[in-house]
Amino acid sequence: MTLDKSSPGFPKVRLRRLRKNPAIRQLLQETRISVKDFIYPVFVKEGITTAEESQTMAGIRKFPLSGLIEEVQECYDLGMRAFIIFGIPSSKDERGSSAFSKHGIVQQSIESLRKTFGDQIVVISDVCLCQYTLSGHCGILRGRRVDNDLSLDLLARIAVSHANSGSDMVAPSAMMDGQVKAIREALDESGFTDTIIMGYSAKHSSSLYSPFREISASAPSLGDRKSYQMSFLNHREALREVMMDIQEGVDIVMVKPAVPYLDLIRRVRDMTNLPLCAYSVSGDYAMIKAASGQGLIDEKQAVHEMLTSIKRAGADILITYHAKLISQILQEE
Ligand SMILES: [Zn+2]
Repeated sequence: MTLDKSSPGFPKVRLRRLRKNPAIRQLLQETRISVKDFIYPVFVKEGITTAEESQTMAGIRKFPLSGLIEEVQECYDLGMRAFIIFGIPSSKDERGSSAFSKHGIVQQSIESLRKTFGDQIVVISDVCLCQYTLSGHCGILRGRRVDNDLSLDLLARIAVSHANSGSDMVAPSAMMDGQVKAIREALDESGFTDTIIMGYSAKHSSSLYSPFREISASAPSLGDRKSYQMSFLNHREALREVMMDIQEGVDIVMVKPAVPYLDLIRRVRDMTNLPLCAYSVSGDYAMIKAASGQGLIDEKQAVHEMLTSIKRAGADILITYHAKLISQILQEE
């Protein structure tokens, strides 16, 4: 920020001049959000025939494979073009093998989207084990501990199977050291040199994930995720996580959650020229829904303000459960 020392100051300077009416305010608007900034999370559940309403996130549903196209088409008609797919498998095991099965729910979803929409949409797939392992942890257990290096091979297999099904972008979220490197090498060896990796680079162990865990049935059965996800107390360590992903060859970095971590989004923005994604998580969504449901805040205004703040902090793209609503709000503007 440079101070204009020659500025005459008040009363010659009146900042309110620039806020006189809506047309002037719009002209001078510094941050703009667009429907093209958003990635919409879509949940696809194996073994159901009709969509299931989430118990914790009002308005969010889990879809059967047969309902996926209709849901994405609705979003497409609102202008959205990017979707991140989360799978809810009907069976789990110790190695999370349904995560890398050729006929897994995510693999089938990607194929179906690719067949219907071709290159008109960006298909992103979450790469993790927690929805698929009996333990609910993001890696493989050895004893009571999540084993980093054992997990890498499986994460790489998941990413390759997603790429093989047609995913444009794989998004490793397990917070294992070396996961981006392992995935990049495996993708390249399999000929998927153009598959993008979006790392959940600084993913924090957050209280704001709870609503998601209900919908994705991925709560850990023992312990917590603090031995691999970031502590919200540390900001320098978060920057190291981002730097490590960059060194391993990531294409897009991410900060998750977004709203209580806007300072970190700004620091990452200042640190790298890579595209920066921020994930506005299920807790952000649920809090606004709960407060607006009780008439305490206006849902549309709160969503607009919250998502704009993430962009203003420096994020290029946003994953948000509010994507449908904000698309409608922006169309009404
Ligand atoms: Zn996970």
